[in-house]
Amino acid sequence: KRQEVGPQEHGIDPSLVDDRALNVVHTLKEAGYEAYVVGGAVRDLLVGLRPKDFDVATNATPEQVKSLFRRAFIIGRRFRIVHVVFGRGREHEVIEVSTFRAYLDNAAAEQVAGNEKTSRSELAGMKHAVDSTGRVLRDNVWGPQDEDATRRDFTINAMYYDPETQVVVDYHGGIKDAKKKLLRMIGDAATRYREDPVRIIRAVRFAAKLSPLGFTLDPKTAKPLLTCLPLLQDVPQSRLFDEMLKLLQTGHAVATIAQLRQLGLAKGIYPLLDLVVERADQPFVKAALQDTDRRVGEGKPVAPSFLLACVLWSDVRDGWARRLTARQHPFPALQEAIDEVFDSRIGDVSGRGKLGADMREIWMMQPRFEKRTGSTPWGLVEQPRFRAGFDFMRLRADIGEVDVVLADWWQEFSQASDAVREDLLAQLR
Ligand code: ATP
Ligand code: MG
Repeated sequence: KRQEVGPQEHGIDPSLVDDRALNVVHTLKEAGYEAYVVGGAVRDLLVGLRPKDFDVATNATPEQVKSLFRRAFIIGRRFRIVHVVFGRGREHEVIEVSTFRAYLDNAAAEQVAGNEKTSRSELAGMKHAVDSTGRVLRDNVWGPQDEDATRRDFTINAMYYDPETQVVVDYHGGIKDAKKKLLRMIGDAATRYREDPVRIIRAVRFAAKLSPLGFTLDPKTAKPLLTCLPLLQDVPQSRLFDEMLKLLQTGHAVATIAQLRQLGLAKGIYPLLDLVVERADQPFVKAALQDTDRRVGEGKPVAPSFLLACVLWSDVRDGWARRLTARQHPFPALQEAIDEVFDSRIGDVSGRGKLGADMREIWMMQPRFEKRTGSTPWGLVEQPRFRAGFDFMRLRADIGEVDVVLADWWQEFSQASDAVREDLLAQLR
């Protein structure tokens, strides 16, 4: 079923391929290996989006890849790949190179895992730890390109592009599906969700990402989503949390909420995500989601702490107000309200110390914006997290929770010279 598709048919603009990816493919091919741009980058090039990163697939082993580049690192245990690094410091760029993997269905993976002795000798090229879970094995058994294609998730994610010959290698009708604007799982969808339930979340993510281009989920891919949802219970919380962040922080948060609702997945993926969907129409949360999408679209950084602080703000605010009514002092009242929110959502943000600390800081800054006397304003603008706290307050002002004049004042104060700051403070007296 291997198809080779030329540039006149796929229409990919070769100038959109990253120079570093070109370099990696070229070097591998010079050394006698097969090498292609693969996965999401080919998909994005094909539908006219600019890929955010370029992955390369090859028949060279990680050790062989590493030996060809000056700065290359073998990383990952569950999924061993090579990072080829270009440039230094903030400018550096990483091209991920993965070796073609075999497709092992559940039965094959279990057989391999259950018989470590034969697996060790049979599976040449696997020098690293063999454990009994099957998954590590499954993900690191090298195989031919057609199997590498078959183990991938969606047909449009399973194509290989040679930027030198401009040929796309397509085993599963990805080009055809891209033309039909169909997001289609390779093989039997329910089986593939059972193999790796995270694919349920990936289906939502790509459906949301590609929905502005007119893509829809193939009915056979969409149908088992709901019945397979309970399978996510076996996925580690940390992986679910990361997938949730990809749904919310890759520029398609609003579209994701719409997809989740449309597919009947508004509840059940992850508790904190359920809450986001539930609150997505509240003005403050809605503004935060839109703001996140806008920032990602403009290439600006986004922090999970900011969005989650927005989603949980109504709880903090209510708990704070209750304590203020009971005549507690504002700061300890806010502290306690925050503790209470963290306690009630403990499973969601526990083990993520930095995230929780950043959220707390954003919230604790809020009353300080109201206090524009003494040394408070000077200290506040020097806080490393001032920008996040200010952006949060700006969003509150946008929905009428805080006076817009106050937000404007802080904007000006934060950007002014010391002399102008003195003036701004003097005007308040
Ligand atoms: P993005 O643009 O969001 O990075 P992507 O398609 O590149 O999208 P990645 O998570 O970077 O997604 O994965 C790279 C490729 O690896 C995918 O295109 C797909 O072919 C394959 N892949 C990733 N995760 C899975 C999975 N859970 N099951 C099967 N294939 C997967
Ligand atoms: Mg990717």
